[in-house]
Amino acid sequence: PKKREKLGVALVGLGGYATGRLAPGLQLTEHCELRGIVTGSPEKIPLWQQRYQIPDRNVYSYETMHEVANNEEIDIIYVVTPPALHARYSIIGAEAGKHVWCEKPMAMDEQECLSIIDAAEKNRVQLTIGYRMQHEPNTQTIIRYGREETYGAITSVSTGAGYSGAHPDPDNWRRIGRMGGGALYDMGVYPINGARYATGMEPIAVSGRQWSVREEMYSDVDEFTEFTLEFPNGVVAAGETSFGKSTNYLDIDCSDGWYRLRPFQSYSGVQGETSDGTQLPPDPNHQQARQMDNDALAIKENRAPIVPGEDGLADIRIVRAIMESSRTGSRIEL
Ligand code: NDP
Repeated sequence: PKKREKLGVALVGLGGYATGRLAPGLQLTEHCELRGIVTGSPEKIPLWQQRYQIPDRNVYSYETMHEVANNEEIDIIYVVTPPALHARYSIIGAEAGKHVWCEKPMAMDEQECLSIIDAAEKNRVQLTIGYRMQHEPNTQTIIRYGREETYGAITSVSTGAGYSGAHPDPDNWRRIGRMGGGALYDMGVYPINGARYATGMEPIAVSGRQWSVREEMYSDVDEFTEFTLEFPNGVVAAGETSFGKSTNYLDIDCSDGWYRLRPFQSYSGVQGETSDGTQLPPDPNHQQARQMDNDALAIKENRAPIVPGEDGLADIRIVRAIMESSRTGSRIEL
């Protein structure tokens, strides 16, 4: 069949995020559309097929997913499983010759991240991580402020992302360390990524502390994590994340003023203000649709995506250093 103009996306893992944000977002995109699904839950198939007109030939299980190699209608696989499975399914997708979009946190450790990057390079496919914020206009504005030193040189960063909630089901992967659960993997990557994109720098040392208050729920993972990132020029970013406290801010202090985004990582309503009274009002567009269109366009035009695999790797390196720092009580040099 002649390839249609839009690129075809297959979602891998039909959970909360795929159902609530990505599939609806793919109804709004110009450069890609939902054409396939990969699921381990047969009972989900009829509803998805009906709602999104997905033909039988584009429905896969994790066991048959590699056969997507023979399916010209699928250009991209988007991995939306628990983090511990991101590497496995991203690599299957790359080896099937498909471009790979992989959700945050990229994978469990640096080795897994590198194996995804390696598989994408070997198979000459694009790899991008599902960080939404770098596609968001106000976020792009503050990235530019940092780069152009609009308010002078950055002197410090303070950032946090967390929600006050609960995961009562003991099988919920967010409670299970080996599945990639815990506040740091789930939410902590937002302030880590935020400190990195705001400063445009990579930290040289990391300190962290992790703990749980509701031990009955979070005995296996962190409910809270606090950390500091030390950047090469002496700038320090203070970060926090949790499952037990609602926080959502990215505050930047500079030699000649300040600016901040509050909230900085919500699906909508990301907005900012600056020390000279500039307002950065919320952008009304569907964030995930914009992200996926940008990423599809990068594939079509054969240019680097906004969030390459290396960006996910850099965050996971910091996540692991924070965990090591908390475990050993020492400052970890990167
Ligand atoms: P859910 O638990 O709601 O869904 C995960 C899905 O993965 C399941 O429904 C299941 O789909 C599939 N899956 C495959 N193997 C397993 C397994 N062993 N255990 C559990 N599920 C499995 O999680 P979310 O949708 O909230 O999160 C999925 C990913 O998306 C995570 O990496 C998360 O960090 C990321 N995410 C990103 C967001 C963002 O803003 N960028 C927001 C929310 C989540 P099936 O039944 O079809 O096989």
